[in-house]
Amino acid sequence: MVLTDYERLAALNKDHLWHPFTQMKDYINADPLIIERGEGIRLYDVQGRAYWDGFSSVWLNVHGHNVPELNQAITDQLGRVAHSTLLGMANIPAIELAAKLVGISPKGLNKVFYSDSGATAVEIAIKMAFQYWHNQGASGKTRFITMNQAYHGDTLGAVSVGAIPLYHEVFRPMLFPSHVIPYPYAYRHGGDELKVMEDTLTALRKLLETRSDEIAALIVEPIVQGAGGIVVMPPGCLREMSVLCRQHGVLLIADEVATGFGRTGSMFACDLEGVSPDLMVIGKGLTGGYLPVAATLATDEIYNAFYANYQEQKTFFHGHSYTGNPLGCAVALASLKLMEERNMVEGVRVKAAFVERKLTALKDRPHVGEIRQKGLMIGIELVRDKASREPYDWSERIGVRTSQRARALGMLTRPLGNVIVFIPPLASNEAELDAMTDILIESIISVTEGGS
Ligand SMILES: *Cc1c(COP(=O)(O)O)cnc(C)c1O
Repeated sequence: MVLTDYERLAALNKDHLWHPFTQMKDYINADPLIIERGEGIRLYDVQGRAYWDGFSSVWLNVHGHNVPELNQAITDQLGRVAHSTLLGMANIPAIELAAKLVGISPKGLNKVFYSDSGATAVEIAIKMAFQYWHNQGASGKTRFITMNQAYHGDTLGAVSVGAIPLYHEVFRPMLFPSHVIPYPYAYRHGGDELKVMEDTLTALRKLLETRSDEIAALIVEPIVQGAGGIVVMPPGCLREMSVLCRQHGVLLIADEVATGFGRTGSMFACDLEGVSPDLMVIGKGLTGGYLPVAATLATDEIYNAFYANYQEQKTFFHGHSYTGNPLGCAVALASLKLMEERNMVEGVRVKAAFVERKLTALKDRPHVGEIRQKGLMIGIELVRDKASREPYDWSERIGVRTSQRARALGMLTRPLGNVIVFIPPLASNEAELDAMTDILIESIISVTEGGS
């Protein structure tokens, strides 16, 4: 018997690939989706079926796939050099991109330290904050504050400031301890935004008043907590948190890996409340979703704490083989140029309003608990009982089943527990958003009300 190309690849996939965040026993027993190519905001599998990329390939994609301008930027750079190290030397795109990033970032962030994933960029922010205090003789400031249900990536430092038990608990014995304050998640904590915000600020204030001499930094996903369930902060909360940190001499690390590059309707979520963090972490959308480049931005004040005679031993000893990769930096520059030429950040606000109107169709459905949205970052929390907000039991896998239904209808997405995620590429036009939200609505209604 001659195997089709799909069968051959599926067999090799089953035999040799171990997938991230995946129970392989479930995965192996279903037909794997194998992507062959992308065009616009659609991906095509090896059997020629088309799917809307309804989660931007896990929250990365900006301009769609196979974008001529981005392809060209990589090809042009490839004709010069694919990679040269940033250890003690520079390259053209890494310099140009650093200057560009400083130009669009909240004020005060003047230095760019590259790495290759959100997690590594978080590690760098943590280590920088730690050594910043050490270099100044305040070596008692070693602890970090994070927020309940925070996600900052999967390397051990990032997991140490993570607070999602399902992902993080098993590694607890390997981690450094962090202080965890409540995240203002009104829907799950009484429903009153002002009350949950006050709870968060009170907990933070208390910690800072009693322990700021042992705390290096607070790390936060600004305005929208991503992996924790696409949970939007009450207005003013981030601003207040940043003020408290400043008052108590604790650094603020903004993890903009998910929220950066227009996703929330401004270039960075911090901009929504005029917040200037001491360290800012970016990744995901930085290269338009093309190549693995991330960065940690720092203020001059942080940088200057490391700037000394070599003998003083204040150097930041950290780096990765592919830090500042020229291909990645070149495509990031091209992506930012397209974002500007096409006014994409303003565009997100218009598109977000369209999606919001469309999703009102779900408001009164019996199993739609809450529809949360900031820009083109949308999470829909499904519940067994709307009035009591009783969640579906995790073993029912309501999110997984809804996403499977969406895939059968032609759209890809990946749930967060009982929260359905809709994070379309920023370039999606209104007709495309219309088609994608139709699938989203139909899959939610058919799975939660279909009786199967
Ligand atoms: C995805 C994400 C990360 C981790 O980024 P990777 O590139 O997957 O390592 C960190 N922080 C936030 C807020 C994220 O959403």
